[in-house]
Amino acid sequence: MTLRKTEVAIIGAGISGLSLAYFLKQRRIPLLLLEKADEVGGLIQTKTTAGFLSEAGPSSLLSRPEIILKLSEDIGLGEQIAYANPLARNRFVYRDRALRAITPSPPGILKSNLLSWRGKLRALAEPLVKKSHAGEESIADFVRRRFGGELLDYLVEPMVTGIYAGDPEQLSLQAVLPQLAQLEAECGSVLVGAIQRRQRQPRVSTIFSFASGLHCLPAAIRRCLAKEELWLQTTVEQILPKQHGFELRIRHRRGQSTLLAEQVVIATSAPAAATITRNCHTQLATLLASLPMVSLTSVTLGFANKPAAQALNGFGFLVPKREGLRLLGAIWNSTLFPQRAPDDGATLTCMLGGSRDPQINSLDDETLLHILRQDLETTMALTEKPDFVAIHRWQQAIPQYVLGHAEKIKQLQTLAQKVGALHFTGNYIDGISVPHCVARSESLAKTLALARRDVCTRSSFSVPAQPV
Ligand SMILES: Cc1cc2nc3c(=O)[nH]c(=O)nc-3n(C[C@H](O)[C@H](O)[C@H](O)COP(=O)(O)OP(=O)(O)OC[C@H]3O[C@@H](n4cnc5c(N)ncnc54)[C@H](O)[C@@H]3O)c2cc1C
Repeated sequence: MTLRKTEVAIIGAGISGLSLAYFLKQRRIPLLLLEKADEVGGLIQTKTTAGFLSEAGPSSLLSRPEIILKLSEDIGLGEQIAYANPLARNRFVYRDRALRAITPSPPGILKSNLLSWRGKLRALAEPLVKKSHAGEESIADFVRRRFGGELLDYLVEPMVTGIYAGDPEQLSLQAVLPQLAQLEAECGSVLVGAIQRRQRQPRVSTIFSFASGLHCLPAAIRRCLAKEELWLQTTVEQILPKQHGFELRIRHRRGQSTLLAEQVVIATSAPAAATITRNCHTQLATLLASLPMVSLTSVTLGFANKPAAQALNGFGFLVPKREGLRLLGAIWNSTLFPQRAPDDGATLTCMLGGSRDPQINSLDDETLLHILRQDLETTMALTEKPDFVAIHRWQQAIPQYVLGHAEKIKQLQTLAQKVGALHFTGNYIDGISVPHCVARSESLAKTLALARRDVCTRSSFSVPAQPV
């Protein structure tokens, strides 16, 4: 067993760990990034087969927090950035056998035929509802209280499913949509507060990807790291606290070895972090293991000729739980971005599973496709057989910020501080989107740099050359 040393060990080369490595390197902090897979990117996985581009995980990004665009430019992806087709503004919700166009704004809600007149009037009466002084609330309770049940069932529930694949009855408003809680607290009304805020600072968040798909983002960050700063096919099995930092027990192609690090950042999912810390701090590991996650299946379908189906002229659509289908929603990728399908062709990515339908992840491909094609025929009259199919089953992939989440994350940080020189980042902390993961890494890099300045006497730790 060979003993090697590094200053900062980062575990996990998804976008959280990779972007942290990049920001640390910019600050000239010696680091080593350890990844169990043979490629970087974690959930970000793009594949192109016979001209059909499929994104197994995320497929588009919001331009906020702004650091995501700056990072893309800085690492040389400026030319590759592809902003979404303006048609992306067209979004649909399936209700009563039709796709109904919707813009989630007061005039949009009024114009749309998604809600009944009763539902619209109830939603628009929101400024008349007294503000609540109760503590944490579920998204469902908040929306029902302020906007009424119909807006919850046909707009908010499917939107929450579209992002978190989760249940608004369980998810915490304060953890998932803190800006809504803040608007109620500050202005007494979400609608009035949102209008005032928009007048002060108009929102300019746009949707984008890259011409060759999202994986070029992690791939480009990887190119910024030196070979010896990234060890692929290296699983960190556990970490153990030592007098000056941590011992990392790692497994790689050629066997097992040990690494010493002054600081450790765990940038994996919460369940993986729980396994890694089980012999380091039992309470920490138990807390991490208690953070709920849901599984999700994504299916990309490709058509050599644009199907004669209804729609495809927008971002995509969502299916409310009340409609009783198994499909959660679909994104019309080839409408959004160029180079997603051969000329004259089309692709769409469908989502199934989540908290609504956990059993679907265990179905075989044939059964899954049968269910999916039935639901696509019902929702968008799509009957053509696809020429290309890519199925990806994600197990325990999306964290659920349920009631009590923020409190647990506070506890996690307090416990980590007690252990000392141990940090956590990842999509289970306070924002699941890729831009949020990048923003959190930038802020953590600043914290690590500051902490480093405070250390007066340093041991002569250096970056190791290669895995054993
Ligand atoms: C289907 C789906 C669609 C999504 N769509 C969008 C979208 O359109 N836009 C958006 O912004 N976000 C989207 N998201 C969310 C976003 O993709 C994720 O939140 C984000 O990519 C998480 O990145 P991460 O680095 O925190 O975690 P991960 O990507 O999970 O990376 C963690 C890494 O740690 C590694 N690892 C685990 N254990 C160990 C170990 N013991 N030793 C070493 N390495 C280890 C893993 O192999 C992995 O590479 C989507 C997510 C999913 C699942």
